[in-house]
Amino acid sequence: MADKTPDIVIFGAGIAGLWIFNRLKHMGYDVLLLERESIGCGQTITSQGIIHSGLKYAFAGKLNKLAKSISAMPDLWRLALDGKGSVNLSAAKKSIYSQYMLIEPGVIGSLIKLITIKALSENVRELSQKEWPKEIKQTGFKGSVIYMNEPVLDISKILHALAEPYKNFIRKTDDTPPMEFLEKHNIKAKHIIFTGAKSNHNIAKNLNHNAGLKTQARPLLMGMIKPAPYPLYAHLVGASEKPVATITTHKTNDGKLAWYIGGNVAERKKEADPKDVYKAIKKSFAKYLPDVDLSNVEWAVVPVDRIEGKSGSKDWMPDTPTIHEAENIMYCWPTKLTFAPMLSDKILQRLEEKEIKPSNTETDWSFLPEATYTLAPWDKAQWIKDN
Ligand SMILES: Cc1cc2nc3c(=O)[nH]c(=O)nc-3n(C[C@H](O)[C@H](O)[C@H](O)COP(=O)(O)OP(=O)(O)OC[C@H]3O[C@@H](n4cnc5c(N)ncnc54)[C@H](O)[C@@H]3O)c2cc1C
Repeated sequence: MADKTPDIVIFGAGIAGLWIFNRLKHMGYDVLLLERESIGCGQTITSQGIIHSGLKYAFAGKLNKLAKSISAMPDLWRLALDGKGSVNLSAAKKSIYSQYMLIEPGVIGSLIKLITIKALSENVRELSQKEWPKEIKQTGFKGSVIYMNEPVLDISKILHALAEPYKNFIRKTDDTPPMEFLEKHNIKAKHIIFTGAKSNHNIAKNLNHNAGLKTQARPLLMGMIKPAPYPLYAHLVGASEKPVATITTHKTNDGKLAWYIGGNVAERKKEADPKDVYKAIKKSFAKYLPDVDLSNVEWAVVPVDRIEGKSGSKDWMPDTPTIHEAENIMYCWPTKLTFAPMLSDKILQRLEEKEIKPSNTETDWSFLPEATYTLAPWDKAQWIKDN
């Protein structure tokens, strides 16, 4: 078989790989995106889809570099959702919701609230009780409600919006190590980008590219409840640094609503007892959302390996997306879904500096299998009846 010489091959079709792939295709690069399992199947589909404005980090007075750099992101995503951004997400437009912050009553709660509002005032507004949305009134919550200008996205729709326009150029790889896979198929790329999240580190190590490379991992056991009685998008905030629980709502394949729950309740090792996650959820609901009836629900957990590049910050989150480079290879982590546009800008800047220009050609990749889309966690979960 004759050599294939694309400008760029990307390994990993999560949000990071898809976003840069979409931009490169649009700019005329000859680019192949290879996915080992299914499109979006990693952290991306397990994410809560919140486009943070940094508020979550600022609420405990942590107006650090991350909170500041992140505050421009919601507008950037909204532009993309309006079809006016650097990628076109208009096919996913219907998925915009807004996140609320429910702050427990009491002195500490009020202090946090004041710091929060001061920190990022353009993105937040305290609601008077009359303005509380119906669903929050229904929960029986007592405390302060802050409206946050943060979109919450339907990640399945985002995956389709990014992948569908150029679907023929997203193909499936297998367990063959990446460089051997390329060799096997006579693919000689000018440049390679790894956006394989947790596999990036091992690949770099196997290619002797790991000098100076630092990543950090955070295991999580995310919780889920269905049927959820109504849509709810809320951070439950107490006195501690992180939200007690963060709730987003998603439609399951059986037509029900599921609440997907992260935050402190989910911060535990994969081997932890799943029942403890549900117990912690119940405890937080009893305190914050006392009128939510959990007597007839099913619950499930999703183990996730959260992994990101480490930028050296001592805070509980690194500051920006990270890129580690060696030879003609970039290893990339967005750090957050929110940062995918920023990561792409950084990659494009490096390609420009390296004078890797679009060839305005297209290779036919139909000899490789097509990549398919992943299922959402709530459609794969083993649901357990509460009793
Ligand atoms: C529970 C949870 C909730 C989150 N919530 C939010 C949120 O609300 N907002 C936010 O901004 N961020 C959130 N995040 C963070 C965000 O999800 C991640 O930062 C982001 O999705 C990482 O994207 P990625 O493309 O780098 O990695 P991934 O989504 O993990 O994608 C990596 C892809 O690469 C593929 N792959 C791996 N190795 C290879 C290989 N050798 N060849 C080919 N393909 C390969 C994998 O199969 C996978 O599809 C959350 C994360 C978690 C875990």
